[in-house]
Amino acid sequence: MNDGYQSIYDTLKSYFGYDEFRPLQREIIEDTLGGRDTFVLMPTGGGKSLCYQLPALHSKGLVIVVSPLIALMKDQVDSLNEIGITATFLNSSLDPQENEHRKDLVRRGAVKLLYCAPERLLIPEFLSFVSKLPIAYFAIDEAHCISEWGHDFRVEYRQLSILKKRFPKTPIIALTATATTRVADDIVQQLQLKSVKRYKASFNRPNLTYLVRPKQETFDELIGFLKSHKDESGIIYCMSRDSTERLAEKLKAKGFKALAYHAGLDSKLRSKNQELFIRDKVDIICATIAFGMGIDKSNVRFVVHYDISKNLEGYYQETGRAGRDGLPSDCLLFYSRSDKIKIERFIQDISDPKIAQHQRLALAEMCNYAELTSCRKSYVLEYFGEEMTQSNCGACDNCLGITNRSAKVDLTIEAQKFLSTVIRTKEGFGAGYITEILMGEDNDRILHNRHHTLTTFGIGKDHKKKVWHHIGQELEREKYLVRYGEYGVLRLTPKAKTAIESKSPIWLSAIPDRAKKELREQKSRTAIADMPEMNAKLFDVLRGVRSTIAAGRDVPPYVIFHDTVLKQMTALLPETIDDLLKLSGVGKKKANDFGHFFITAIAEFRTGHTEIRTVELKQEEPVAPKFKETAFESISLFAKGKTIEEIAIERRLSKATVAEHLGDGLLTGVINSLDRLVATEKTEKIRKALIETKAIFLKPVMEYLNDASISYDEIKFVRAFDNRNTNIKKY
Ligand code: ADP
Ligand code: ZN
Repeated sequence: MNDGYQSIYDTLKSYFGYDEFRPLQREIIEDTLGGRDTFVLMPTGGGKSLCYQLPALHSKGLVIVVSPLIALMKDQVDSLNEIGITATFLNSSLDPQENEHRKDLVRRGAVKLLYCAPERLLIPEFLSFVSKLPIAYFAIDEAHCISEWGHDFRVEYRQLSILKKRFPKTPIIALTATATTRVADDIVQQLQLKSVKRYKASFNRPNLTYLVRPKQETFDELIGFLKSHKDESGIIYCMSRDSTERLAEKLKAKGFKALAYHAGLDSKLRSKNQELFIRDKVDIICATIAFGMGIDKSNVRFVVHYDISKNLEGYYQETGRAGRDGLPSDCLLFYSRSDKIKIERFIQDISDPKIAQHQRLALAEMCNYAELTSCRKSYVLEYFGEEMTQSNCGACDNCLGITNRSAKVDLTIEAQKFLSTVIRTKEGFGAGYITEILMGEDNDRILHNRHHTLTTFGIGKDHKKKVWHHIGQELEREKYLVRYGEYGVLRLTPKAKTAIESKSPIWLSAIPDRAKKELREQKSRTAIADMPEMNAKLFDVLRGVRSTIAAGRDVPPYVIFHDTVLKQMTALLPETIDDLLKLSGVGKKKANDFGHFFITAIAEFRTGHTEIRTVELKQEEPVAPKFKETAFESISLFAKGKTIEEIAIERRLSKATVAEHLGDGLLTGVINSLDRLVATEKTEKIRKALIETKAIFLKPVMEYLNDASISYDEIKFVRAFDNRNTNIKKY
């Protein structure tokens, strides 16, 4: 196994096939190896398993992994064995003889990681078996099950507090994806972790795109969505057991491979359906929320909520099951107020008023999310106590500009420009003519009317003509303007006059921008959508190879290779085992065990399709942040030498908003220096504080700095600048 001199980086490459650690993994591994208790909060798909699996190879003794579900254990153990790490599990699914055999292997030191459920671990005779073994550390997976405040409380988990009493010197690493502080504190306390180091990774999952659609003609819309995910795996969550079955039937009738899953199904049928899904034999599973925990399937390409969730936390967990492999995946929610009312009725039946109130508030948060017109990701992240560094995530419908018509944005400035042109032309012209003035067109009619002398002449040049058409239409639709007579002359309504006098903000439907068009034109969001047709064909061939190998070894296909690996093969067309080893996610054992199947398949395919070419692979994540037009405006004023205050006054925005825009400029490298934003001596101080506190949040950084002359904006600027153009956040 390990000679003790190998670095954790070598192990990462040779066993797991990866070149870099994900954020925090290295620190957590080093702490674990240093004998420290750690608490790890990472979103689903963040890479928790590696944090406790890798150090096992650098430890002398046995690692005991406590995991709540039998299904999960088997997959994890299979995955570990495939990469050459000896692991096994003990649980009630095995016959006594097999159990004894495995215990014997453990006793002989032939196993590095032993997985078991808490109820097994806590049986006195099992504890005494364990206490005779040299234990390196305990890993408690899905640790939130220990807390009554979590949504998956399990009584057996509660008793894990005994571990520290029985094994006071053995380190514990507790891991979960459940984010609230209350649960986190409870876990640490229940497990009695000593001088524990807490880690919290960002909950932003850049490869997931969040979309909300009104619940109208839902089935048709769903079919359209599913067609863009042809032959891919996905979960559709429904509120009731009945509706999972009905939906699965309707989808089958439309030719999709779909099955239902809920707690009311016969347990054999339930595990059969789950197994078919995990093994890529069925694409779509229509399920209640009973489905999900312990599903480690890495190539789930979409999660649809056909009905609303009861709270945002559950919703985020459920959507988190998409795209664990890091490839782009979609999370779609269908929302209607009547769903909200349905859930409210359930809440009414709850007898404990405190719990009822808690649930009512949680539901309100969920509905707020669904009704947002601003960035959905920043809302969710804020809910989890995290703030986003950029104002446009580039991965939600609102930021991408694919909002439905009812979604609105603040277009005060544009509306004011339009309305004041209507006033200055004495309410005597139509929308087309107003647009010409705004665009500064010096045509005969304008010159004749001397409208080129108006102060608003040409002030709309920064937008395309179609934008002003849109603003005109929206102002009319929102009853700021009315149209008179056969020429469609525009006049202001009292609503418009009040808005202008009180300088109140004007919200209109978002300007249909380029992103919207791009998304409409994008026919498919499949994992290999960006590949030429021939390479896409090869991808299918390689999937076939993977399925055959998987079936022969009785493991799910993703245990062989993840989609990301197949995608790299499809693009780079490796010819040798060495080529394969260069791919991310290919370790030595897998390359040797079944690399040749893939290499042969690729070579064969190439003889039959000589026109196939290698494709350059773009960095998959994160999605590059895109600016809102409004941020561009602030950035260009800044480039012209204006200060934040001046821009704020000129644009009638708050200084905080302008600062946010400039932060986006720094993060994307459009503004390429901190010079005019942060004094040099402050920059170094802030940088040090950011490194020392490893802070995702700004407050601890502020406290560390303890310097009243430094503002939050300045910290944000330094952080944005240092993280610019990089995929890996430094802090
Ligand atoms: P979690 O348990 O947090 O939900 P997993 O441990 O299943 O997440 O990891 C999610 C995915 O990320 C897996 O496909 C895993 O192989 C991959 N992964 C983990 N660490 C890395 C890394 N350092 N580089 C690339 N991929 C990684
Ligand atoms: Zn967004």
